[in-house]
Amino acid sequence: MTARIIDGKARAAALRARVGEQHAAFERAAGRKAGLAVVLVGEDPASAVYVRSKGKATEAAGMASSTHRLAAKTSEGDLLTLVRQLNGDPAVDGILVQLPLPGHINENAVIAAIDPNKDVDGFHPVNAGRLASGLQGFVPCTPLGCLMLLKEELGDLSGLDAVVIGRSNIVGKPMAALLLAESCTVTIAHSRTRDLAAKAAAADIVVAAVGRPEMIKGDWLKPGATVIDVGINRVPDGEGTRLVGDVDFDGALSVAGAITPVPGGVGPMTIAVLLRNTLLAAHRNAGVAYEK
Ligand code: NDP
Repeated sequence: MTARIIDGKARAAALRARVGEQHAAFERAAGRKAGLAVVLVGEDPASAVYVRSKGKATEAAGMASSTHRLAAKTSEGDLLTLVRQLNGDPAVDGILVQLPLPGHINENAVIAAIDPNKDVDGFHPVNAGRLASGLQGFVPCTPLGCLMLLKEELGDLSGLDAVVIGRSNIVGKPMAALLLAESCTVTIAHSRTRDLAAKAAAADIVVAAVGRPEMIKGDWLKPGATVIDVGINRVPDGEGTRLVGDVDFDGALSVAGAITPVPGGVGPMTIAVLLRNTLLAAHRNAGVAYEK
């Protein structure tokens, strides 16, 4: 058996196209574009690439995008002032502060300053609480993208055993909450988990969000399992480098039922969901009904 490769790139393109159409309808109804403001502090090259692609994708969907580039030495106070200014700007529906922030800035304080109704990353504690409580809010883009891939692949997830490896606030915890809301039986694994291989072996769904290259081995998996690999790890390759996930992709291919590749799996979905969240925010802010 060879696992089906889940084509995140194609599914993200389909979602972006749908968001583009929905945005055109929003623009007609509201008389304005949806707007996303992205804030980048410092010159981290990976963050700069992410911010550029977010801006481009926003404009490609027909939305308004603004990028605020601040020097690495920007004070926390100045960043908070900008966030508050964006909170009050009626043309801005979504605010995204690219993480990580320079060490002298308290990330939690910045996230907490974002208006929860403009928090399209879904990192504000109010939105984390809404997700945990089953209330409407904003769900972090990466785990929501993973859930969309899983539902397209498997349909109803109810009753399935899922293992989420990783418990970060941006991926692991919200992923577990989403799977629980779909009535999966969820195990959350982390660096202190004992016998991870046995936990993975019992799972119909494995979501890997660890940040360790190819740590999850094919022979850990239950035959036919659906594997979502969130990890993005750069490893040496000859003279250069290449990207690999947290799962040993080649080893998993002969065991899993379906698997996301790295790159081309979860990554493209993250940006597509950001656009979807921005569109959702715009509908809510403008009081226009949002049709999924
Ligand atoms: P974090 O570093 O915040 O969290 C990693 C988690 O993995 C922690 O909960 C940690 O456990 C756990 N962990 C570490 N070592 C082990 C181990 N040996 N066994 C089991 N669990 C372990 O990472 P993120 O959640 O932010 O990101 C995870 C990965 O996903 C990274 O590769 C990142 O680049 C990628 N990513 C990809 C995105 C995309 O769009 N595709 C978006 C966001 C992230 P503990 O809590 O005990 O320390």
